[in-house]
Amino acid sequence: MKQFDYLIVGAGLFGAVFACEAKKRGKKCLVIDRRGHLGGNVYCENNDGINVHKYGAHIFHTNDKKIWDYVNQFVEFNRYTNSPLARFKDELYNLPFNMNTFYQLWKVKTPAEAQAKIHEQVAQLGIDTPRNLEERALLLVGTDIYEKLIKGYTEKQWGRKAVDLPEFIIKRLPVRFTYDNNYFNDKYQGIPVGGYNKLVAGLLDGIETRVNVDYFKNKTELNDLAENIVFTGQLDEFYDFRFGYLEYRSLRFEHERLEIPNFQGNAVVNYTEREIPYTRIIEHKHFEFGSQAHTIISREYPKEWQFGQEPYYPINDTHNESIIKQYKQLAALEKNIIFGGRLAEYRYYDMHQVIGAALTHFK
Ligand SMILES: Cc1cc2nc3c(=O)[nH]c(=O)nc-3n(C[C@H](O)[C@H](O)[C@H](O)COP(=O)(O)OP(=O)(O)OC[C@H]3O[C@@H](n4cnc5c(N)ncnc54)[C@H](O)[C@@H]3O)c2cc1C
Repeated sequence: MKQFDYLIVGAGLFGAVFACEAKKRGKKCLVIDRRGHLGGNVYCENNDGINVHKYGAHIFHTNDKKIWDYVNQFVEFNRYTNSPLARFKDELYNLPFNMNTFYQLWKVKTPAEAQAKIHEQVAQLGIDTPRNLEERALLLVGTDIYEKLIKGYTEKQWGRKAVDLPEFIIKRLPVRFTYDNNYFNDKYQGIPVGGYNKLVAGLLDGIETRVNVDYFKNKTELNDLAENIVFTGQLDEFYDFRFGYLEYRSLRFEHERLEIPNFQGNAVVNYTEREIPYTRIIEHKHFEFGSQAHTIISREYPKEWQFGQEPYYPINDTHNESIIKQYKQLAALEKNIIFGGRLAEYRYYDMHQVIGAALTHFK
């Protein structure tokens, strides 16, 4: 008999939910993480009362009542509603594209006027079948929205010109003909009161955890400790990159403390012009309606990913899909190892989805 039923590699939401559910069923778990803290990408650093989302802004949203009730067992959620703004040069627009945006762009007041404006612009394009992202986006929303609110932002995000990006990246664009600035359509949304660390602490309550422990540097000893492994790290790394590296887009955050109570009046402001190198500024206190005398802002710079840097967004193109397929074939042959979460599955998961995926293992 080994000391633990499960060694869980990675203390992000997948690992934490898995550990919590296994513990409920009488299993003994050890959760490790190579970082110096628990929580994975939802980790927040407290700066004199302001929870700074260290790995990018995280807004919880779901349509699934079971997932909503599940997270609410551990922490109360506030009524935060994501209503980002877009700044293009000196102009400000509401997002997602809705009647407020259309009024700001064209002074149109009714849905019929807004639709007519978009149709008129699309008709002038003369594009039948879109060949790239630019053409696809133009067909969906017309010239003005594309030029002011999509082009520069997308080119910064991907580090490539929109005409050089495949059209499948944009399948649809949320366009709403109501005066509704709520970014998400989901029934439930909010931020944990006191930050995401409280959610993670609740999930991992009573479970042994070790931080600053890299699975690959201590593999033999760690494997000897547990009957089963739950691996939530990078799948290509698990197999020593034998089929090649999986690629990602990465981000760099520039966090700044300002001795003023309010910098931009909103948690999220997107900068959509190409000339400004960051894509957005997050002002963290607004996620929790903070009233501190100071504020913390984070500028978000997209960048190329290189091995050793934080892998944020998988690039699900044909090249990477063919690589991940080979790794997944190996993973399917493993006994006593469960692979889960955004890195091991090489897919973009929202928080509610990764929680749902971890819970599915116990159904
Ligand atoms: C910039 C950004 C913004 C996002 N915003 C939202 C949002 O607003 N709303 C939303 O619902 N979702 C959002 N998400 C998605 C959300 O972050 C994920 O759904 C969630 O964090 C995934 O959890 P995970 O456990 O799969 O991965 P992670 O949180 O990445 O956890 C994996 C953990 O494994 C550890 N690990 C890896 N390899 C090893 C190893 N060898 N040894 C030990 N430990 C290891 C890592 O250090 C990490 O802590 C966002 C994601 C990004 C990138």
